[in-house]
Amino acid sequence: MELPYVTFESTNSHRPTLLFLLFPAFFYRSRPDVQTCTTWKAPIIWNGMFEPNLYDQTHKREGSSVAVTVFAVGRFVYLDAYLEDFLNSSERHFMLALPVTYYVFTDKPEKIPDIKLAPQRSIKMIKVENHSRWQDISMMRMKSISEIIESDIRHHCTHIFCFDVDQVFTGRFGSEVLGDSVALLHAYYYHLPKRLYTYDRNPKSQAYMESGDFYYHAAVFGGTWMSVKVLAETCYQSIMEDKMNNVEALWHDESHLNKYMWLHKPSRVLSPEYCWDRSIGYRSDIQVTRLLWAPKHYDTLRKT
Ligand code: UDP
Ligand code: MN
Repeated sequence: MELPYVTFESTNSHRPTLLFLLFPAFFYRSRPDVQTCTTWKAPIIWNGMFEPNLYDQTHKREGSSVAVTVFAVGRFVYLDAYLEDFLNSSERHFMLALPVTYYVFTDKPEKIPDIKLAPQRSIKMIKVENHSRWQDISMMRMKSISEIIESDIRHHCTHIFCFDVDQVFTGRFGSEVLGDSVALLHAYYYHLPKRLYTYDRNPKSQAYMESGDFYYHAAVFGGTWMSVKVLAETCYQSIMEDKMNNVEALWHDESHLNKYMWLHKPSRVLSPEYCWDRSIGYRSDIQVTRLLWAPKHYDTLRKT
């Protein structure tokens, strides 16, 4: 009998690629109210589609471990107002079954709050330079992420998730999200027609795109270290090319991420449960919120 040859999520490890058979299935029909699968057959993960314990046990057995990258650079409010809540809430909800290493990037390492971590969880501080424009701080994350994967994460973790700091975990954000390449549906766009997606429409930018699959939110993305390394390098190169051509994509790194995910389809897509904004109000399809946007402090953040 011929075994199916499967390359699906093959970078999950260096072992042969029937891995998907070892992982529990998603229950695609358990949520008839929402789209649970992309046209390229990647799951879109909603509450009720998975058995949390099965995923945790399988990933424990596989030896999965997760790196988190988060940045608090420049204006003090990122360190002061957001980082502590982000880390403390993550200790209550993020990948509780697996080893986690936080990589905190800051220009003021001495100001990092003292957080009590559970066993098998640790923090590494990485000093980075500040940039005068917040757009550059945001975009340059791609460079720092690719460098830290190469120098450290690849030796210690199987997977990586990259987060904005201005968010708070409020529910399980667990091993069901781990996959080769993972993107998040933007809470403001998942209900809207595609013509309203705010892709970069400037043909001079590397992020330019006419149409796409979804509008992804750059506040959360992840995958295996190998695929996130390629993603971060590619986005960084596009950002630098734009700089040389004197253009800037409409939504900065998010525009480049959307372009990348259009050309390289993610193997898992997260529903907006995984990054919800309470100010949107009630939506019947959002049964749980797992990560919430923290209130914006644009008055202090975006003064130039
Ligand atoms: N960031 C930072 N300092 C800045 C601007 C941005 O550390 O001055 C980091 C921080 O992690 C933040 C992320 O870049 O969460 C993206 O910026 P922001 O959250 O302000 O963008 P928005 O979510 O409003 O698009
Ligand atoms: Mn943010």
